[in-house]
Amino acid sequence: MGYITLSREALFSNLDIIAHQVGTKDKIGVVLKDNAYGHGAVMVAQACAEYGITHAVVRLEREALEIEPFFEDLLILGDVPTQPSQKFSYVVNSLDWIERFPSGTRVELKVDTGMHRNGIAPKQLEEAFERMVGTGLVCVGVMSHLRSADTLSSEWYWQRCAFDEVKNRASVLAQKQGWNLRFHLSNSAGIFRSNGCSDDMVRAGIALYGCLEMDKGLFSPELKPVLSLWGEKIATRTLKKGERIGYNGIYQASEDEVVSTYDVGYANGLDRLASNRYATPEGIALRGRISMDNAVFSTDKEELMIFDNANDYARSVGTIGYEILACLDKDLKRVWVD
Ligand SMILES: *Cc1c(COP(=O)(O)O)cnc(C)c1O
Repeated sequence: MGYITLSREALFSNLDIIAHQVGTKDKIGVVLKDNAYGHGAVMVAQACAEYGITHAVVRLEREALEIEPFFEDLLILGDVPTQPSQKFSYVVNSLDWIERFPSGTRVELKVDTGMHRNGIAPKQLEEAFERMVGTGLVCVGVMSHLRSADTLSSEWYWQRCAFDEVKNRASVLAQKQGWNLRFHLSNSAGIFRSNGCSDDMVRAGIALYGCLEMDKGLFSPELKPVLSLWGEKIATRTLKKGERIGYNGIYQASEDEVVSTYDVGYANGLDRLASNRYATPEGIALRGRISMDNAVFSTDKEELMIFDNANDYARSVGTIGYEILACLDKDLKRVWVD
């Protein structure tokens, strides 16, 4: 099976850039959900801890358990606890979620400031606090999420203002309970919309992995992609002019051509929509349909770098780097190269 290489140098350089923008590495929460966007959760967690990061964000409790030793606190975006923990906090995604948590659970309240995906409405803040107190929860944070921080528009700004208002009201409510809240709003794109950080934490995902794309006209930091996907050669052959490759024979050689099969397919996350329409950064063309466990390229190299920036592959498929990364097969071997 193919393999993934990870660059610590790129990861640390991205962390330097984020820390510089935010003003301190102490406010960085690294988003390691979904196997750290396909990079390998334990490997990335360990490297982030080495760098001095203390906060992590995941989707599920089982993801948090896997990387717990590396961090001081872990925020769980979409799950309920099966065991008590003083390190974990769980997101309240709507008023109904409050009653789903056992008494004593540490929670962070999500407020919907305009994305209209998850979170309580700002006008439900008082009711949410009453119900959290009634259920015996301990609220340790209030958060929101930005819908368009990567686009050149005023959307970031009005969500920022709405969250600042929520912060003021929540601070007063929390004081009555003796709760010490942390506030966080920004995802990767949000981090780069202002200098410094007026909140207590940011939630850095795609920027950490070096694949943040901002609209033209917005500040766009020089991040470095951390992950590369490689294939190992299975077989080489020379096609005669006119011969076709793979399922349905959608590629036909226009002259004699040396091609090789590599051991990565759509079962490993190589999106099949790139069939016949992708070339590697070295300019080596993908030929014919991608199979479940194989793909054919116009070369006889023993080891082939398929992509070193998931955004390039994503473009050939009409999606975003996030999806390509998050869908990479967990079973692919992952190694640090520096
Ligand atoms: C995934 C996620 C993030 C990270 O977003 P990026 O754009 O990758 O930085 C931040 N906050 C929440 C709530 C998320 O679900």
